[in-house]
Amino acid sequence: MKRLRVAYERFTSCSGCQLTLLNCEGELARLSATCEFVSFSMASSRADDGGPLDLALVEGSISRPEELGRLLELRRRAGLLAAVGACALSGGVNVLDDRDRSLACTRVYGDGARQMNTFPPQPLKHFVKVDLEIAGCPPEEEEYLTALGALARGGVADLPPYAVCMECRWRENLCLLIEKKLPCLGPVTRAGCRAKCPSFGVVCEGCRGLTAEANLEEGFRLLLESGLSEREVRALIGRFAGRILENHWS
Ligand code: SF4
Ligand code: SF4
Repeated sequence: MKRLRVAYERFTSCSGCQLTLLNCEGELARLSATCEFVSFSMASSRADDGGPLDLALVEGSISRPEELGRLLELRRRAGLLAAVGACALSGGVNVLDDRDRSLACTRVYGDGARQMNTFPPQPLKHFVKVDLEIAGCPPEEEEYLTALGALARGGVADLPPYAVCMECRWRENLCLLIEKKLPCLGPVTRAGCRAKCPSFGVVCEGCRGLTAEANLEEGFRLLLESGLSEREVRALIGRFAGRILENHWS
């Protein structure tokens, strides 16, 4: 099997997605037999040779002109480009409360904020075609390995298109939203984590982003029934949905 030439690039992010791939310790030997990483900042100091790529894995949202230039370059070089993690898919937590961006920047960086050449963080798909989405904040280890394994064999990853509620029911959990009236985002959140949080009695916070066919109006109504205000429901759903909600309920 020919090794895939892969670049793993990081933009505005916390590196948690890269770290999760490195945490697949039992599989790293097989992964390196399958993929040749020409760049991977958390794993190697190897300098990217700038050659063609089979796959670009991209973590993080785009918030600087340099990042945008690098993203466009990766898109030109790579046969496939995968957005990895909530930051890359929707803007993620980087988008939280950027209503007055200059005020927020000044609070954190003081006068230095004026010299920063940044713009509001954007998901990758606002600029380039994304071939594959590996969701999560951070993604599940198994999902990474499924996706890379499928691509290495010339196929496409079969990642779940349904909601966390499906996985919750398969695990025979009590429904936190209906039966306990807790603000759980399972009905509108993309599955793949095996309903990790509700299985421990903790509400889903939607870290895997919205399912493609999320019924947001119905989800909104159920969350209001759990006792949240409209503002709280918007904030809850928006935490990981980022810019995907920008034109919703505006
Ligand atoms: S998606 Fe989450 S874990 Fe990944 S870089 Fe963004 S904040 Fe970090
Ligand atoms: S249950 Fe929800 S918050 Fe928990 S890991 Fe899964 S998607 Fe993320």
